[in-house]
Amino acid sequence: MHGSLSEAGPAAFFAAISTAFSTAAVEIRVLAFRHMAEARIYVVEDEPDIAEVLAYNLRKEGFEVALEARGDAALEAIRRERPDLVILDLMLPGVDGLEITRTLKRDAATAGIPIVMLTARGEEVDRIVGLELGADDYISKPFSPREVVLRAKAVLRRMQPGGDGDGAAAEREVVSVGQIELDTAAHRVLVRGREVTLTATEFRLLKLMMERRGRVQTRSRLLSDVWGYAEDVDSRTVDTHIRRLRRKLRDEADRIETIIGVGYRLRE
Ligand code: CA
Repeated sequence: MHGSLSEAGPAAFFAAISTAFSTAAVEIRVLAFRHMAEARIYVVEDEPDIAEVLAYNLRKEGFEVALEARGDAALEAIRRERPDLVILDLMLPGVDGLEITRTLKRDAATAGIPIVMLTARGEEVDRIVGLELGADDYISKPFSPREVVLRAKAVLRRMQPGGDGDGAAAEREVVSVGQIELDTAAHRVLVRGREVTLTATEFRLLKLMMERRGRVQTRSRLLSDVWGYAEDVDSRTVDTHIRRLRRKLRDEADRIETIIGVGYRLRE
């Protein structure tokens, strides 16, 4: 009896320790080892319940998740750690979500980090400002955790070179329309010889419009091909990105034509 007890000892001890630890803590350790290659996500949310639910569901999918409740601490951590995705509440203590977006998108080192905003009812204006500032997407509260996971995956898929519709994008490919030149491999856009900085989503949007130049692209088509969504998502995301893209295209802005009630077309 004694022999078998001591044999079972280490396992029983470990089981007891595991149960004793909070499940969340154990989960982080396990996932950190199992999914080293998985994306790292920062969840910036000051409501603990929402933050925990998000973290739990994202970790379940294999993502590495860090939580921040304060805006200032989040900004510092994001700039230092450069996560693959930021899920960002707008109303935060310290520095608010819009200011975080502005700061990250202004800095070339962090401009490429995709941001998904969490917005509450009554924050419609902030949501639009956030998209204007360069946020990639938003999710309205209340949301289902599943929806957040799907959005996170869609955004991350878009960020992967060669992922989601880019096909064999490894080879050097330059598309040009008028005075706009887009280099897929270098991820670079020149407008009348001058380089313009685009976010990953703007780049995909422009690339797709250029490849399909002369043809009208409906909002739902763009949402599904650029954002990877089913059609029932608010199409204002598309409009805001188009507006921002036009601004960046400067003298070539009017190449993107609005087809009222339908969508957009890039003029040849
Ligand atoms: Ca909040």
